[in-house]
Amino acid sequence: MDQNHQENEPHVLIFPIPFQGPVNCALKLAELLCLSGIHVTFLNTHHIHRPLLRHTQVLSRFNRYPNFRFETIPDGLEHENPVSGDRFEEVMDAINAVSKPLFQEMMVSGHLSSKSERPVTVIIPDGVFNFAVEIGLELSIPVISFETISPCSLWTSNLNLPALIEAGEVPFKGNDLDELVKNVPGAQNILRRRDLAPYCRLSDLSDPEIQRTLREARTIPLAQGLILNTFEHLDVLLLPHMRNLCPNIYTIGPLHSLHKARLTADTEQSSPETTFSNSVWEEDRSCLSWLDKHPPKTVVYVSFGSLSSTTVNQLLEIWHGLVNSGKPFLWVRRPGSITGGYDQTQLPSELIDHTARMGCIVDWAPQEEVLAHQAVGVFLTHSGWNSTMESIVEGVPMICWPFYVDQFVNSRFVEEVWKVGIDMKDKCDMVIVEKAIRDVMDVRQDMFTRSARCWANLSKESISEDTGSSTRNLDRLIDDIRVMSRSTR
Ligand code: UDP
Repeated sequence: MDQNHQENEPHVLIFPIPFQGPVNCALKLAELLCLSGIHVTFLNTHHIHRPLLRHTQVLSRFNRYPNFRFETIPDGLEHENPVSGDRFEEVMDAINAVSKPLFQEMMVSGHLSSKSERPVTVIIPDGVFNFAVEIGLELSIPVISFETISPCSLWTSNLNLPALIEAGEVPFKGNDLDELVKNVPGAQNILRRRDLAPYCRLSDLSDPEIQRTLREARTIPLAQGLILNTFEHLDVLLLPHMRNLCPNIYTIGPLHSLHKARLTADTEQSSPETTFSNSVWEEDRSCLSWLDKHPPKTVVYVSFGSLSSTTVNQLLEIWHGLVNSGKPFLWVRRPGSITGGYDQTQLPSELIDHTARMGCIVDWAPQEEVLAHQAVGVFLTHSGWNSTMESIVEGVPMICWPFYVDQFVNSRFVEEVWKVGIDMKDKCDMVIVEKAIRDVMDVRQDMFTRSARCWANLSKESISEDTGSSTRNLDRLIDDIRVMSRSTR
């Protein structure tokens, strides 16, 4: 590319919220934009950047792209390790207090740092960073929000929250969590109260989480566009309603598959390395050879993602359920994810013996590769959106035990809409775990396998070259960034 052409390329600033899932997605989006020649600055907060550098080759990988640069910004979080999800509000408060004014200064000055000569022409912040949309509007810099939570939750529990409050459905009247929610266009007769994001269960509308969500509902439609990690078929019930509020939606999912496909197709980048880690924990790859020893579809894969924590009691219920099902299992237990800790020597012997014979426990796994492994028959998951998409792509049915926000909506859609699993929501009991495993792996295996395969095929169609809806939407996003950048310059 000649010098003149490069100078005219847009300069996009990507700014993810400092958690594993969003940073992983944002890095994939960044690489897709870099491949198209767009200049990208990736703004990470210190808290997440340190472990990312420690456990990945991300610096050397992105060295291939002269049009890519990392910048970091303080966030006031002192903890060495990534925080768990119960401290989400603390992270948001710290970012608002520390990162937001610095970000504003960067944008007003037009230069991100002394290293950067090019002004930013488009901002792509995490959808939760309301302030970034507001600053972009103020400075006439186009903003395209990137929501890494699920569209089904974004629509039902965020964008639609003002309507639920106005209709008197939130806060809930009475204690019946099984009552159907009426005022969610596209999802009538699907959601019970218990399936909305858990902040809808709060009785106090002045709660910071509700207030932040209401602000997000107001702010997201003000951005010039909205990027979603889904594909058109998967959210066909809801996308038309979302487009009434946010007309310019780019569905570019499954993002990890589209990313892999583009990397493989790109002639300049055609190294065999299309799977690599963006993990902020050290991946234990030994679990892949453990999986190699098992016949197809026999193993239960258990992981509750990067933010959730379990109590010892919940841990034991799940453990007993797994052991009683008699199936081999691979279980990710992130360091620090069991609250209070427990005494290994006090564990019942049946758990120890079964686990020694049929279990594999690791701190962190290469999850995309695990789910792609033929030995995995079911995923016992917290229903994080990335995990859900990764499971759908590989045609692996799910047993869902949600902890936070969108996971409550996702698990309902997995069972009721996509029919690719069982929702255990609100119940953590060894009998339920055992029954769900037997149900998915034995009793109703054909039904779950058929519908999981069907969604896996549709996900592949969505990223097919030229005709796939997500492929076309990514190309449209790239074209639009160029057009928007002309007006910014
Ligand atoms: N993940 C991983 N190894 C693990 C567990 C999770 O690489 O052992 C990845 C997983 O592939 C996914 C992300 O961490 O991309 C978790 O994101 P998700 O949205 O599912 O849940 P969250 O961690 O945000 O709750």
